[in-house]
Amino acid sequence: MNEPASNDYDLIIVGAGMVGATLACALGGQGFRIALVEARQPEFDWPADSVDQRVSAITCASQKIFESIGAWPVMSEQRVSPYREMRVWDATGTGAIHFDSAELGEPLLGHIVENRVTLFALHKCLKSLETVSLLAPSSVTKLDIGSDKAQVELDDGRFLSASLVVAADGSRSKVRELAGIETTGWSYHQHGVVAHIVTSQDNQETAWQRFMPDGPLAFLPLSDGSSSIVWSTTPEHAETLLAMNETEFLDELQQAFGDRLGRMIKCGPRAAFPLHLQHAKTYTQPRIALLGDAAHTVHPLAGQGVNLGLADAASLAEVIVDARKQQQDIGRHKVLRRYERWRKGENLTMLSTMDGFKRLFGSTKPVMKWLRNTGLRLTNSTTPIKNLIMRQAMGMEGDLSRLARGQALDGEQ
Ligand SMILES: Cc1cc2nc3c(=O)[nH]c(=O)nc-3n(C[C@H](O)[C@H](O)[C@H](O)COP(=O)(O)OP(=O)(O)OC[C@H]3O[C@@H](n4cnc5c(N)ncnc54)[C@H](O)[C@@H]3O)c2cc1C
Repeated sequence: MNEPASNDYDLIIVGAGMVGATLACALGGQGFRIALVEARQPEFDWPADSVDQRVSAITCASQKIFESIGAWPVMSEQRVSPYREMRVWDATGTGAIHFDSAELGEPLLGHIVENRVTLFALHKCLKSLETVSLLAPSSVTKLDIGSDKAQVELDDGRFLSASLVVAADGSRSKVRELAGIETTGWSYHQHGVVAHIVTSQDNQETAWQRFMPDGPLAFLPLSDGSSSIVWSTTPEHAETLLAMNETEFLDELQQAFGDRLGRMIKCGPRAAFPLHLQHAKTYTQPRIALLGDAAHTVHPLAGQGVNLGLADAASLAEVIVDARKQQQDIGRHKVLRRYERWRKGENLTMLSTMDGFKRLFGSTKPVMKWLRNTGLRLTNSTTPIKNLIMRQAMGMEGDLSRLARGQALDGEQ
């Protein structure tokens, strides 16, 4: 990464989270001049024996994207944890479903990766790209859209201009707000409590999820046999869980999850995140594109949030590279609308499906309880439907970008 020679770029990407950094790697690798503006100073020092509180289930399609931009080998060197099976069951009935990658003839369903490992790898790739300038810590305070350039002002008074400004600045996106793009959505009145947990039995490379009336409790497998949990529950219960001492918390967790992984032995630091559904009314305007959580926020119950964002990044990169090939202005609304048409429907389908699941499994009405238990049993015994769900969850369905198919971004090499 270089210090900027001038303040004029092809793109300004706001937000160097997993999605913004992926887009910067993909387009930086194609020689685009990029200012990557990030509010926090990236920190990559952590004790060797510690585990990040935040992990993500990374689909096979996302893995391909990371491979294409050179991040995956660095992630693998650090720690990625494959999972081959997934077991989901209803706490209030007998319905259960078991997904096994072997049924699809695939070696695995995906990987659990600590978010800091992904960010470390992406930032390592960024460092090798001469046309990408990371400006951090720095935030955008003003946005002006002109006829052939967009201009942003940073909190240190600097002005930057570019053909396109990309909002990858998360669910409370400042760029989205400055562009006047509205969102629809609602709070789930749930918080996701996350922590690293050691159990007496190995996780069997299986993702476990128990649905309870207050929300799902997931155990995501790590390669050393331990697990990372996401416990979605009421905000009041989440507060109580955070206030408990370790013994009290492990007892409560044992009660909630049961003994499928033996005894709960040890727990790392805990944190809680409010959960909501949010969807931007539009992803694009002239010289503006939203992606990742800035465009959509989904319930974490199927671990799809960042995967949707990475698919956005790979699709937008492809649209931009193709536009440049045809000597089109990459900030033109006509160009950006290709990206929006590509991604919005697919994201909306996933948002609605996850919302439906959340409602179905959160209901205490007898008819809903019957429906979900019967549904789980039927789905479990109907191989084609089960396989389709697995392929969806692995990111193998839909209109995949070149990067997600493991091809060169410019479609040539
Ligand atoms: C409990 C929980 C569990 C989850 N588990 C999974 C999972 O298993 N799998 C999965 O796919 N997804 C999961 N998700 C969702 C996933 O974490 C998000 O979808 C993902 O982090 C979004 O990435 P992003 O880069 O779009 O946004 P963010 O991760 O929010 O990154 C935004 C970046 O922009 C920066 N920024 C913000 N404002 C500004 C500004 N004004 N100027 C400059 N920079 C700014 C921030 O510092 C940050 O670095 C989970 C979410 C939660 C809450």
